[in-house]
Amino acid sequence: MKKNLHPELHEIVAHCACGAQFRTRSTSEELKVTLCSQCHPYFTGAQKFVDTAGRIEKFQKRYEKGAARAADSKAQSEASKVAKTTGKKKK
Ligand SMILES: [Zn+2]
Repeated sequence: MKKNLHPELHEIVAHCACGAQFRTRSTSEELKVTLCSQCHPYFTGAQKFVDTAGRIEKFQKRYEKGAARAADSKAQSEASKVAKTTGKKKK
């Protein structure tokens, strides 16, 4: 059998970004994770966005702008309709 074929397995303590620790086995001697079963939304039932560089806020801002613009154009088209009808009445 070939020597040094299998990586060494370590019993280690993994650290999560939320502060939780849990024992596990890994070929690496250190494990740092950003989500674990203590803080993942699937297990906590709470909604939580893992937002990078405010992308969600950017999207929401853009969406609000678009909605406001749509409302404006709608109001303007209605206003022009009213202007047309009032113009006819004046004649
Ligand atoms: Zn965690």
